[in-house]
Amino acid sequence: MTAYTTIILTFLTGSAFLLYIFEKNKRANLEEKSRNLQDTINQLDEQARMIIKTDLALNKVQEELDKKITGLYTLHQLGEKINSTFNVDDLFGLLKPPLVSKLGFTKALIMIKDNKTGAIITKTSMGYSQDETKTIEKTLNRGSLALSLLKKGKFLLVNRDLKKIEHEEVFSEIFKSDSFLTVPIVAKDESIGFILMGNASAYSKVTEGDAELLSVLASQIGTAIENTGLYTELYNSHQDLERRVKERTMELARLNEKLTRLNKVKSDFVSAVSHELRTPLTSIKGYASILMAGKLGDVLPAQKERLQKIDKHSNSLVRLVNNLLDISRIESGKVQMNIKEISIKEMLDSVVDLIAPQIKEKNITIKIDIKTSPEKIKADANQLERVFINLVGNAVKFTPEKGKITISCKANKDYVEFSVEDTGIGIPKNDVGQVFEEFFRSDNALDQKVKGTGLGLSLVKKIIEAHKGRIWVESELDKGTQFRFTIPSY
Ligand code: ADP
Repeated sequence: MTAYTTIILTFLTGSAFLLYIFEKNKRANLEEKSRNLQDTINQLDEQARMIIKTDLALNKVQEELDKKITGLYTLHQLGEKINSTFNVDDLFGLLKPPLVSKLGFTKALIMIKDNKTGAIITKTSMGYSQDETKTIEKTLNRGSLALSLLKKGKFLLVNRDLKKIEHEEVFSEIFKSDSFLTVPIVAKDESIGFILMGNASAYSKVTEGDAELLSVLASQIGTAIENTGLYTELYNSHQDLERRVKERTMELARLNEKLTRLNKVKSDFVSAVSHELRTPLTSIKGYASILMAGKLGDVLPAQKERLQKIDKHSNSLVRLVNNLLDISRIESGKVQMNIKEISIKEMLDSVVDLIAPQIKEKNITIKIDIKTSPEKIKADANQLERVFINLVGNAVKFTPEKGKITISCKANKDYVEFSVEDTGIGIPKNDVGQVFEEFFRSDNALDQKVKGTGLGLSLVKKIIEAHKGRIWVESELDKGTQFRFTIPSY
């Protein structure tokens, strides 16, 4: 080997070595890069997994949130309907399948304790056949199982795959549901039943959120039951009242009929008796006059005095009998009013003339105040005069000395209104409503002294009513009395 060759070989070996070193470095570099890349990929992978996981969790939360919003909205709508329901059965009818499914369930039950027997009864059921609900009722009513569903403030949440406690397994069997919730219904502070919602399988689980929603619904139902109960009570008592009013009205109508019949019998009787009395009374009066006139011989002063008493008493008896007869005759329509145009002033003047002696005796001031024009009225002159004689006569009787009596009269297009007012003793409040009744006399000291029969005002009322008018009285004890009456102005 030449030196030249040696140099070449050395050069080649050196180059190969350098190449080897270079290659080795390059591979090491590549491997390093590859490792880094793998790490990055792994990190990205991990991040992607995390993102997917978070996304799933977010989706789930979103789903829950959507469910809750739908549930709340459905509850709100249902609540409005529940609040405007006044009948318990209508109330249970509100819970319909679309509504239950909006809340995310396929099964629903409302079971309420019967008021009388205390047994649990199905009021609404969804997702159950009739036989199934009957079986549920029977099972719950057999033991004390139902009690745990009615515990106030407690709810039962079962998702079967959790297999928490045995007790829940029992209910899962009874309600044929692997995933359900029951919440007690409370009314008037007492647990009266429960509401159940759920699904057949545990695929879609019930949540605590569902329990909150169902609790709101149960409390709405409880309040509504309470309210409908109150409403029903009110309605029933109203119906009862109406029935009793009807009964009383019929009873009163019967009594009224009876009274009308009796009144007729009384009027006929009074009329007959008065007729029978009038004839002998006329004879008594006649004989007394003959005796007093001395036509049958001289009469001693003592005898004359007694005869005058007989005459006086017979006169008041005749007046009484006449009044009685008139009342019954006017009442039965046997006396027709002889309606003619009369002068109000002339009639009142004649009445005042007639009563003048008594007015003078008691030093009473009388005033006539006529505010109608012309001063005319269409009425039966004699009967209207009797009205005034009685009213003004009473005013004089019941007004102490130096009192005042005012007779006034005003008119409108429909009627003329008269008033006889005095400053007398007045009528006690309790008696005011009775003064027009036959034979009524107030129980006051003056009444005991002054004479009267208690028939005057009764006759006055009959005469005014026969004129198609109306009479009433206002009075204040120790202040005075005002009788007012109307007569139509034809
Ligand atoms: P009487 O014949 O007793 O006056 P009335 O029928 O005319 O019968 O009156 C009945 C009762 O009404 C009277 O007894 C009296 O108690 C009461 N009364 C009537 N008018 C007046 C009056 N102007 N003031 C007070 N009481 C009166």
